Amino acid sequence: AIQFQGVVKRFGDNVVLDGLDFTVAQGDRVTLIGPSGSGKTTILRLLMTLEEANDGLIYIDGDPYTHEMRGDKRVAIPDKRRSLVRRRVGMVFQQFNLFPNMTVLENIIEAPIHVLGKSKAEAIAIAEELLDKVGLSDKRDERPNKLSGGQQQRVAIARALAMEPEILLLDEVTSALDPELVADVLGVLRNIAETTDITMLIVTHEMQFAREVSNRVLMFDKGKIIEEADPETIFTSPAHERTQEFLRAIL
Ligand code: ATP
Repeated sequence: AIQFQGVVKRFGDNVVLDGLDFTVAQGDRVTLIGPSGSGKTTILRLLMTLEEANDGLIYIDGDPYTHEMRGDKRVAIPDKRRSLVRRRVGMVFQQFNLFPNMTVLENIIEAPIHVLGKSKAEAIAIAEELLDKVGLSDKRDERPNKLSGGQQQRVAIARALAMEPEILLLDEVTSALDPELVADVLGVLRNIAETTDITMLIVTHEMQFAREVSNRVLMFDKGKIIEEADPETIFTSPAHERTQEFLRAIL
């Protein structure tokens, strides 16, 4: 589970998140939608500790993440404790970010061996299972540049899953792909959604994706949630005028 409590994020004078509160339950698949610049990616970057909030608290499964309250003071959590919580969160990016000089298998086993301390044999066994799951067993020993974008993205998904995350963050994972490759990636993600209870937080402009994979949609505008509903409701009868405008513009 993820909890944001009064989270504030500013870049200079630009207040991107303005006291944001929301909770994502274990096993939820939540899509964040909203106009460009409304703060969706910033939320994922905070959860990856690529950015730090200026105020407020973030909890992962009830554990304070980067900051905690000591008395009435908000203090930073030591790096060691932070990285233990950080490990529960995996991310897949728009640009696959695979290691180009490693094979597909090496990409997947790297972090389980070096971060989780798994034996090479165990890491390989897990990687092979995941490659099967994403339909790429035959690409095990290829370099990423020999693969299509869709295949590379499926390797990136397998690599994230190899870290056994409780939470998977997906940032525009299909937007760098040719249209005919999108379906395979969506299929893999739908399968993960159906066969695991990994919590997913999804940022996408593809409403079909949001509709098929998620069970909750949060509509953002100017760093605030202005509407929240199940995908069916939000796409067929959005309540808020800003949501109606946004969907009209992109659908
Ligand atoms: P999009 O749909 O275009 O990806 P978004 O909703 O994900 O947009 P964010 O990427 O979270 O929006 O950006 C929110 C705001 O924060 C934008 O105004 C952006 O310019 C600003 N911003 C993001 N990162 C930085 C940064 N590193 N330095 C300065 N401003 C930033």
